[in-house]
Amino acid sequence: KKVAVWFRRDFRLHDHTALVHAIEMAEEINGKIIAFFYLDPETATTEPTHHDYFFQTVLHFKNRLKRMGGDLYILTGTIEDALESMIQAHPQLEALFVNNDRVGRGAIRDQIATEYLLAKSIPMYHFEDFYLTEPDQVLKKDGSPYKVFTPYYKAWVSENKRVPKRIEEDMLRSYFLKSKPIDEKAEKKFIDLVKTCPRKWSAIGEDQAILRLQTFIEERLSTYNSHRDYPTMTGTSRLSPYLKTGVLSVRSIYNQVLEAEADEHEHSAETYIKELAWRDFYRMVHFYEPNCKEEEILSDYRKIPWSQDEVRLNAWKEGKTGYPIVDAGMRQLKVEGWMHNRLRMITASFLVKDYLLDWRLGERYFEEMLIDYDPSSNIGGWQWAASVGTDAVPYFRVFNPVTQSKRFDKSGSYIRKYIPELKGVPEHFIHEPWKMSNEEQQQSKCVIGEHYPEPTIDHSVQRKKAIALFKESKDV
Ligand code: FAD
Repeated sequence: KKVAVWFRRDFRLHDHTALVHAIEMAEEINGKIIAFFYLDPETATTEPTHHDYFFQTVLHFKNRLKRMGGDLYILTGTIEDALESMIQAHPQLEALFVNNDRVGRGAIRDQIATEYLLAKSIPMYHFEDFYLTEPDQVLKKDGSPYKVFTPYYKAWVSENKRVPKRIEEDMLRSYFLKSKPIDEKAEKKFIDLVKTCPRKWSAIGEDQAILRLQTFIEERLSTYNSHRDYPTMTGTSRLSPYLKTGVLSVRSIYNQVLEAEADEHEHSAETYIKELAWRDFYRMVHFYEPNCKEEEILSDYRKIPWSQDEVRLNAWKEGKTGYPIVDAGMRQLKVEGWMHNRLRMITASFLVKDYLLDWRLGERYFEEMLIDYDPSSNIGGWQWAASVGTDAVPYFRVFNPVTQSKRFDKSGSYIRKYIPELKGVPEHFIHEPWKMSNEEQQQSKCVIGEHYPEPTIDHSVQRKKAIALFKESKDV
């Protein structure tokens, strides 16, 4: 007899809710566990950066299970075909265990899978695992969802969060099934896919993630509150790619940070936990606003005639807007597939409120580039920056890229790290290099218009245009 566990964005063996329940059943029926991954043909491409990071993580996990005497079987085709191939290979399948996807494509796919298996009298058990709370757990007294983060957070804090469950790894060895591949072609397709990944990611997988969490708590949590906004300070945890691939359980993070809070890092721990609450909040919003990838949550702003200008869009993508802080952020994104939160806010605001481009274009580009891409957080972040979502900043609050730069990268070391053309520019001009005289430009080996672009727009002019666009849309 067998039970199956479908791994999808939870490539770990610690505190894995579906796996814990699968072990219980395997124990009861004296059966084995089939671990598998479904390679959706529609997403089987390494083009978006987060895909190659993701697939390398899957392979890392597959190799780990192999070292433990098991395997992570690869299935592909339509979801029905994939499940059918498993049932054919293992007719004694008693049940399927899975950590729930409750939004987007994943939710639709899970619905199809559940119905398919039901017709075959195989139950599919779903568990909440990826977040600290369920999307419909923290609601207003009248049962409606919160629209604003602060009251949501107040309620969220006092809600029960699940505690991590221990899984004995040694015991797991005896449960994982080792047999021939279920679908040879799918295995080959997957391995070929990973081979074509243009980038090789190193610090991937569960062990690295656990190490990074420990280092963060020991060395950086106490200063998180004061350092987290400064991109050069390495003040944040950089756990987002691990949360995205689920090599780290969010409950483990939460509980370890809480323990540290009790020790000494009170304020920083609270601030950090609040960030985890933002993650829950945006997933909750996505759950109740399933069209939010395409549509502004605030209906007042659905008719804004956003620009689609390709030249500007490319300048932004390439980090050639002429505003150093924006360009440094966009170049970091291109090189590392990751960007600091402050830079995500600055670059997103610039796209929408300086270039007046459609926020959806920016959301899609981040989707393509971020290794930590998470639909709910990304859409939430973009709608926030564009002032069109829940808890929107008022539209007339527009980030000034020069002020932001002076405040959060005072010495310009972040800018210099990602824009080599500006290396020789003195601190006094690093935020506004166009203000250098011709002589100063020659001295710093950075001639504006030749080595580095002139500002492609005038912020003060664009700011007024952006405010007018919002105002007109609201008045219609
Ligand atoms: P830390 O400061 O160490 O925070 C710890 C964890 O809390 C993060 O790993 C993340 O899971 C969560 N978190 C922190 N801030 C936020 C936030 N504002 N919203 C939701 N969760 C948060 N985060 C993603 O994980 N994926 C995305 O695709 C994504 N897109 C974004 C797009 C925009 C325009 C903006 C403004 C923010 C976006 N964020 C996204 C949120 C945030 O920028 C990243 O989570 C954070 O920079 C990750 O770095 P870290 O792990 O060092 O964060």
